[in-house]
Amino acid sequence: MTDAREPLLRYLEGRIALGEPPVILPSITRSEALEALAEGGRDVKGPPPEEEAAPAASEASAPSTPELARLAREGTAERIRELDFQELREVALACQRCALHEGRQHVVFGEGASDARLVCVGEAPGSVEDETGRPFVGRAGQLLDLMLMSVGLRRDEVYICNVLKCRPPGNRNPQPEEIAACSPFLLQQIDLIDPKVLVAFGSFAAQTLLGTRESIGRLRGRTHLYGRFPLVVTYHPAASLRNPGWKRPTWEDLQIARRVMDGDSGLRSGAPGGELSLDLP
Ligand code: SF4
Repeated sequence: MTDAREPLLRYLEGRIALGEPPVILPSITRSEALEALAEGGRDVKGPPPEEEAAPAASEASAPSTPELARLAREGTAERIRELDFQELREVALACQRCALHEGRQHVVFGEGASDARLVCVGEAPGSVEDETGRPFVGRAGQLLDLMLMSVGLRRDEVYICNVLKCRPPGNRNPQPEEIAACSPFLLQQIDLIDPKVLVAFGSFAAQTLLGTRESIGRLRGRTHLYGRFPLVVTYHPAASLRNPGWKRPTWEDLQIARRVMDGDSGLRSGAPGGELSLDLP
């Protein structure tokens, strides 16, 4: 699609996702609008995002070299932080470095563009993610896709992953030793992708990355720093499904992330603790 329909379609779909009222276009009829969007909809969806098939259990336990297999059993954080992306993925898919490997169906390593300018970080796989090996799927994943679309991003343009790569039993909160064991994977993913901005979805991801117990309500709406990366905090899509009133603040947070990603950060220093802040317009 070469005209303005694609951004228009993204905008309208984003409004629907956010529960916004309908847009009235008096100069065209309803059938003309539906026809135009149907044509555009076919184009704008384009090829489906590259879906990485979940590895079979046998594949997951077979790194390509003895050294990678050893790292999957007992690799140190320092050694994992030296791996390239393919090695990192192989080690993670076979990882037994914490007790969560015992109950998982699949390791959910992450997916998306390896050169993404925006990385989404959630807490840990849920049941559907554990079954499929893919992050942010199901209804929460669909809402995430629409919210990304509302700021002009397709799922395959960003990278999506979690703090933990394996599902905690019964979706219980991750334990500190599990976070400590798994975080080298996330840190190395972020370093290798080298994005312009990170978005932490949900209080657990935000609190883990920022090392704080502050609530989402106090952390969202501005930009923090995670290492050398700007970090925006917002509600988890699953929480917004339960509380639709959180969709709009999530959209506002994603707009902040989009501006940072585009280099129009508006970042200013001086906040307590060396934190950078970005006020909402
Ligand atoms: S949660 Fe992380 S550290 Fe634990 S087994 Fe899974 S990949 Fe390994």
